[in-house]
Amino acid sequence: MNCILNKKLKFYTKEMLKVFNLSLIALVFMIAILFMKYKPTYAVSIAGEEVGYVQSKEALQEVLQTNIEKLENDQAQNIEKVTLEAKPEFTLKLVNKAEETNEQEILVAMQKEMKITYHYVEIQLDGNTIETVNQKSEAEELIGTIKQDHPEINLSLAEKTTENIEEIKTSSIEVAKTTLLAQVGEKEQKEEQIKREQGIANVNGIQLATLPIKGTITSRYGVNSRIRVSTHTGLDIAATTGTSIKVVADGTITCASYSGSYGNLVKVSHGNGVETWYGHTSKMYVKVGQKVTAGEVIAAVGSTGNSTGPHLHFEIRINGNHVNPQQYVY
Ligand SMILES: [Zn+2]
Repeated sequence: MNCILNKKLKFYTKEMLKVFNLSLIALVFMIAILFMKYKPTYAVSIAGEEVGYVQSKEALQEVLQTNIEKLENDQAQNIEKVTLEAKPEFTLKLVNKAEETNEQEILVAMQKEMKITYHYVEIQLDGNTIETVNQKSEAEELIGTIKQDHPEINLSLAEKTTENIEEIKTSSIEVAKTTLLAQVGEKEQKEEQIKREQGIANVNGIQLATLPIKGTITSRYGVNSRIRVSTHTGLDIAATTGTSIKVVADGTITCASYSGSYGNLVKVSHGNGVETWYGHTSKMYVKVGQKVTAGEVIAAVGSTGNSTGPHLHFEIRINGNHVNPQQYVY
C-alpha cells in the first residue's frame, strides 16, 4: 500500500515539475519577446502633463542642474537665482522601441517652468537714483573713482532684484559715468551758488561767514561810470539808508572815518593780507583797533561821499589790491 502511494506521488511530482519548467521557459520567452519590442523608459510629466520620454532620469536631472548653474553664473545676464516652479516627475514605462526619447524637448519645456530672479544695481546721489547698472563690482569701482575727485559727494548703491526682466533698464558703465559726472558737477555748482549767496567763501585762507547786506547789485566790479574817474574797485549794493552792515569775517578795524569819495569808510583787516572795505555809510559803529566778529553790525547804509543814492560800496582787498568780490560772494 505504502509503496503504491509513493510511486504515485513521485509521478505527480515529476509531472508538476515538467509543467513548471515549461511555464518558466514560456515566461522567459515572453519576456524576451517583450524586451525585443519594448524598452523600459521614463515618461516625464511637468505639472501633471506628460511631455516626453527619457532614457535616464539621472542624466536629465543632471543636464537640468547644469543648465540652471550655467544661467546663474552667467555674468552677462544679471541672474540672481533660478528656481523651478514645477519639478519633472518620472514614471517607469515599457515603451515601443520605435518611440524616440526627446530629452531636448523636455529641457525646453522645463525652461518655461524656470522662475528667474534678476539683479541690478542702482547708483544714488543723495538717495535719488541717477543710474542703473548690471554689476555691483563695476558700480563700486565707478563710485570710488568719482569720490576721489569729489570726496564730499554722497553716492551710494542699492542692490535690487526683480522677476520681470522688462523692469531692468541698465546703462553701460561708460554711460553711467557720464551721467553721474554731469549730475555731480551740477550739484556742486548749485552748492557753490548757494554759498556765494550766503556769503560763505574763502578769501586767501580767510573764511567769510556772511554777506555784509542783502540788496540789489547796482554796479559791478571793474565797470566804468561817468561819476568815477577810474574803473569800479568794488561792488555797489543798493539798500535803504540805515540798513545794518555786517562785517563778513572776524577782524580788526583799521579805518572808520570820512575818506573822500568813499564817504564814511570802514576798513577791516582779517589777516592773511585780506581787508574788506565798507563805503558811503551813514553811520559807523566801530573805532580803529576794535576787534570784530563775523556778522557783527559795524555801520549803516548811507550815501556819503561820491554817491548818487543810498548803497553800500563793498570792496575786498588782498595785499592791498582790490579783487572782484563776486569771485567770492553774491
Ligand atoms: Zn562803489
